[in-house]
Amino acid sequence: MLLFAHLIVGAVLGLKIQSIWLIILLSIFLHFAMDVIPHSHYTVENLQKKVNNKSGGDFAKVLADMFLGLVVCFFLIWHSANLWQALLGMLFSILPDSLTFIYWQTKTPLLEWLYNFHVAIHRKKEPPFLKGLTGQILTVIIAIIIFF
Ligand SMILES: [Zn+2]
Ligand SMILES: [Zn+2]
Repeated sequence: MLLFAHLIVGAVLGLKIQSIWLIILLSIFLHFAMDVIPHSHYTVENLQKKVNNKSGGDFAKVLADMFLGLVVCFFLIWHSANLWQALLGMLFSILPDSLTFIYWQTKTPLLEWLYNFHVAIHRKKEPPFLKGLTGQILTVIIAIIIFF
């Protein structure tokens, strides 16, 4: 899923759950559960292949994606008594993707199993971008309805 979808679901979890450990566990679990749903990604080939001098465009896509998620999260969590829990949920809900980025950069064997697992749970064939995007927005809306 795109980062914005993970961020919003993480924030919603944090808003509803008090236990810090449960937030961390559920955020990570839901990340993978959401990735099982067929969805599409934008490409970040240069980041993936570690062509760092050409990865400005990729970074821009990631930042735009995050920014979108952060704006929605901001409206959801602003004024909430559970602000810190929500931030924690957001942090851990994008942790698997952050680790993917670290794996691309370092190729460390420490993260290889996690990376392989993360790739494996994705469907081989991605739906067309708009269809895939609609699915992600629906997932976020359903998550919000379930938790609120
Ligand atoms: Zn994904
Ligand atoms: Zn993921």
